[in-house]
Amino acid sequence: MALVNEYFLRLTESYLFSDIAKKVNAFKLTHPKERVISLGIGDVTQPLCPAVIKAMHDAVDEMADSSTFRGYGPEHGYDFLREAIVKHDYLSRGVHIDSSEVFISDGAKSDIGNIGDIVRWDNTVAVTDPVYPVYIDSNAMIGRGGTFSDGKWNMITYMPTTEENGFEPQLPSERVDMIYLCYPNNPTGTVLTKEQLKKWVDYALKNDSIIFFDSAYESYIQDDKIPHTIYEIRGAKKCAIEFRSYSKTAGFTGVRCGYTVIPKEVMASTIDGNEKVSLNRLWERRQATKFNGASYISQRGAAAIYTPEGKEQVKKVVDYYMGNAALMGEQLRSMGMKVFGGANAPYLWVKTPNGTSSWKFFEELLYTAGLVCTPGVGFGPSGEGYVRLTAFGKREDCIEAMERLKNRG
Ligand SMILES: *Cc1c(COP(=O)(O)O)cnc(C)c1O
Repeated sequence: MALVNEYFLRLTESYLFSDIAKKVNAFKLTHPKERVISLGIGDVTQPLCPAVIKAMHDAVDEMADSSTFRGYGPEHGYDFLREAIVKHDYLSRGVHIDSSEVFISDGAKSDIGNIGDIVRWDNTVAVTDPVYPVYIDSNAMIGRGGTFSDGKWNMITYMPTTEENGFEPQLPSERVDMIYLCYPNNPTGTVLTKEQLKKWVDYALKNDSIIFFDSAYESYIQDDKIPHTIYEIRGAKKCAIEFRSYSKTAGFTGVRCGYTVIPKEVMASTIDGNEKVSLNRLWERRQATKFNGASYISQRGAAAIYTPEGKEQVKKVVDYYMGNAALMGEQLRSMGMKVFGGANAPYLWVKTPNGTSSWKFFEELLYTAGLVCTPGVGFGPSGEGYVRLTAFGKREDCIEAMERLKNRG
């Protein structure tokens, strides 16, 4: 009989959001009249902007005509989008990226999950705690996690980010090969300054490590001092791979488009140490074999985000969500709660009162206010004692949620 990849069997069974759904369904059964407000799962609610819709409609029309029909596109994406990215996301910030270093995909999650294909299975991995679970699970699936017990994988280095260290992960004391950083952060909504991020680039350069930098929330940065791309840090082009997504930027969670930047200078070594190999070349090879490109229609939609109208329209939606974040942050603080994040990211990381556990506070909010949040401990052991609220809801719901919290018994 064929054998399974047993590493899959080591993954934890219960998925955070299905546990939440079960509890919410139980509540709905016993409270059929109450309208539940969800500030839990990280999905957007506002529609695509007009510039994107127009571009996608036009692309469909091209597909409908034999003279403009498009079949398979380039695996690494169309030049019109790669060039727009180079110009608007990087050159505009003084960063020189070549369009051959940009790989378009159907979203950041696939790339983050697949990137581990091009490095050996026994590299060591470090992640922040709490963390976006994909970084850990995708590595555990091919054996980089080791075994799971007490909420942790024994071969993964966890770097706590908590109130105590100002949500700044500390450099690992031992050498690690692969470091996952996500800024602005999901789930904590916190950011790193240039000086803080520089410590990581310096560490990676000194230790020949690779930083996997997830900047899915880049467009939510409001503060001028916060870097928009890791390549704003000197030396990062030698040691960092950056993931971007149009999902949270422009409501593409259902359209699907994102990209990954792999500068040609990012290298990894063969095991005998005799050869250094460019990861750009390996990823090109990997994608050409396992991926057939993102949809032409999605890529046309994404390119429209970079037009003057597109930029303005997308910013309006980001401002709307950030308005939600500001409103909720202010209200929660006025109720005496400790709130982190929410200033440069659409997430609020709320400390539970009186040391209540994440899940207990989750149930309290559900049963006293009909409000759904995400228990912080679901993102890692250091998330215990926090819950995450998202600012992706409708404005009316955010206002009502805060009213309910104020008035709860
Ligand atoms: C939403 C999100 C992504 C984006 O995923 P897509 O596959 O592009 O939709 C990536 N990283 C983090 C941390 C996210 O929260």
